[in-house]
Amino acid sequence: MQKVKESVKGLKAYNANQVPFRIKLDANEGKNILFKDISEGLSFGEDFNINFYPDNDAVLLRKEMGGYIGISPSNIIAGNGSSEMIELVIKTFVDKDEAMMSFVPSFSMYSVFSSIYSADFIGVESNEDFSLDMDLMIKKAGEINPKLILICNPNNPTGFLIAKKDIEKLLSEVDSIVVVDEAYMEFAEGSMAQEVLKYKNLIVLRTLSKALGLAAIRLGYMISNEEIINIINNVRSPYNLNAVTQYIGAMALRKKDEITGYVEEVKKERDFLSGELGELPFEVYKSHANFIFFSSGIDDLDKRLKEDGILIRSFSGDLKGYYRVTVGSRAENTELIKSLKEIVKNEKS
Ligand SMILES: *Cc1c(COP(=O)(O)O)cnc(C)c1O
Repeated sequence: MQKVKESVKGLKAYNANQVPFRIKLDANEGKNILFKDISEGLSFGEDFNINFYPDNDAVLLRKEMGGYIGISPSNIIAGNGSSEMIELVIKTFVDKDEAMMSFVPSFSMYSVFSSIYSADFIGVESNEDFSLDMDLMIKKAGEINPKLILICNPNNPTGFLIAKKDIEKLLSEVDSIVVVDEAYMEFAEGSMAQEVLKYKNLIVLRTLSKALGLAAIRLGYMISNEEIINIINNVRSPYNLNAVTQYIGAMALRKKDEITGYVEEVKKERDFLSGELGELPFEVYKSHANFIFFSSGIDDLDKRLKEDGILIRSFSGDLKGYYRVTVGSRAENTELIKSLKEIVKNEKS
């Protein structure tokens, strides 16, 4: 794989010795003296030993992830949120001063990680209505030939969805590593997750933090062809994913009906909230995620809402006056709208 960083080329994956045993004295693990009841108390099962390192390969979890996505576990790496996955990809492929690209505005961590790894971050501007122009991305990528192109789909913070055929077009035109961050894909359509086998350069990122509502356990995963998976596994830290997270994640991914039910509910609330926001003097953008992006002429809308105990996300710089609000429950959305109506009324008088 010629795109791999020089410093990564010679690496071998950490080899955790995971064989059946009777007495385990190979890894300097202490005994569990503090939480003797933890396996029963949390019904983690008899196999759960808090004093042993977790499964380095997260076998049971990756099996469930494979079932959830419809792909082989050998095409999956799990980690501490898709944030760790983004960092792992950059660590593996992008050397100092090498270029990486994404649309802007998009997920802020792309440029943050780019800075941390001293890469050269190049943002491709959105259209005025925050739609994304893939032909422009392809043209710029042709000029710059970046190591990595990060596509957030649906896009955070705007909620814009890029059509699958546009991502396929990008893949056919560039030979950069293309990372599609699908943190919100459950709320939309057009996942590239099952297409990874068709391409030599495609990585798809997913997370349990959004549609599965498990942000606290820090669990995300990447999906790619086995060549890329094997290389990135050489860079991944040993035992990167703790046992509690592996366990809860595997249980969660089996609950497909509940997840689908929740997603449908959020989509309905998204329509409701979007309609209500549209009645106010705001510009509201169509969203394919679990949040809504809008702009307002009222200064410091977020600070005014905060006085009422309601938190929404605000932006600065080019996006001053733009806001992102997560779709809440009907009760929460109704409270938000009530509060916004009050703010708008006071503004007018
Ligand atoms: C929330 C979010 C993530 C981070 O997800 P974790 O799995 O919690 O790290 C990644 N990408 C995008 C676009 C997000 O909005």
